[in-house]
Amino acid sequence: MLVVMDHKATPEEIEAVVATIEAKGFMARPIPGGHRVAICVLHNHGPVEPNLFLSMPGVKEAIPVTHPYKLVSRESQPDDTVIHIGPVAVGNGHLTIIAGPCAIEDAEQALTIARHVKAAGAHLFRGGAFKPRTSPYAFQGLGEEGLQILARVRDETGMPVVTEAMDHEVFDLVEEYADVIQIGTRNMQNFSLLRRAGRAAKPILLKRGMSATIEEWLMAAEYIMEGGNAQVILCERGVRTFAHHSRNTLDLSSIPVVQKESHLPIIVDPSHAAGRRGQVIPLSRAAVAVGAHGLMVEVHHAPEKALSDGAQSLYPAQFEDLCRQIMPIFATINS
Ligand code: PEP
Ligand code: MN
Repeated sequence: MLVVMDHKATPEEIEAVVATIEAKGFMARPIPGGHRVAICVLHNHGPVEPNLFLSMPGVKEAIPVTHPYKLVSRESQPDDTVIHIGPVAVGNGHLTIIAGPCAIEDAEQALTIARHVKAAGAHLFRGGAFKPRTSPYAFQGLGEEGLQILARVRDETGMPVVTEAMDHEVFDLVEEYADVIQIGTRNMQNFSLLRRAGRAAKPILLKRGMSATIEEWLMAAEYIMEGGNAQVILCERGVRTFAHHSRNTLDLSSIPVVQKESHLPIIVDPSHAAGRRGQVIPLSRAAVAVGAHGLMVEVHHAPEKALSDGAQSLYPAQFEDLCRQIMPIFATINS
């Protein structure tokens, strides 16, 4: 149930609706909007009687929310969410480019790549300090040292940084350093981690689980929003299929579907979808053409020496090409 207040409703009238919801044992979550305040009723088991609210002063409508994801749904917030990360905006009307290596390897590597991607047009820098690796023998990331290097990259280039919090144990530390906290594909349904992300004061980049349906993905975002963090960016990164010509299969159809269902921004990671650098530029063009709000791309100045995901990392000159190629596509679909 969504209780929509009249645009002239007073704070006292809003408070009275909240109190009525809470008196029933439910949770009330006001959703501030450009034109109206709406109050979402959460944790109700079964339908809520609209007449409970319709006679209250300041109430305009009481609308049932039909989707299982309530806060994430466009039913509760028709206007697109735009997330601000320092000087960078993510969401409707913006094309936000996140670029950097898979993993932070050392300060020189990170700074070299950061300077390249910034010059080419990246807005945010990415790089893992804690890496989810299939093999326990593979490079696991530099840990806190990697986070310190990310902070240095931010100081020296002015780009806000995105990095993954792989588990509860490191979440506080990552939150201290990161501007955007990434939750990886393998953790999309790690519900305790999602709850922790819901208490974070920083935006969360939530990658789609590699075998998750769109509904499961949006329900994962609902966990974060239910916890109180409304700053969620969705990231399509490909799903597992029978195909071997790419690492995953980029589900471009998820972008318009998510945009219909949800007000949250959605970006595309073509690198982990492709697994091979040759596919990254064409998939990036397609992602922008289909209406994604941004891209997250792996770039390395010496990919043959990269400690992870070298095969899918673009050379800096290729990343420059990518940026050049996507701009006219974005301009066309936004004209
Ligand atoms: C990453 O972006 O570094 C990463 C590990 O991605 P994913 O969780 O999509 O595999
Ligand atoms: Mn990677």
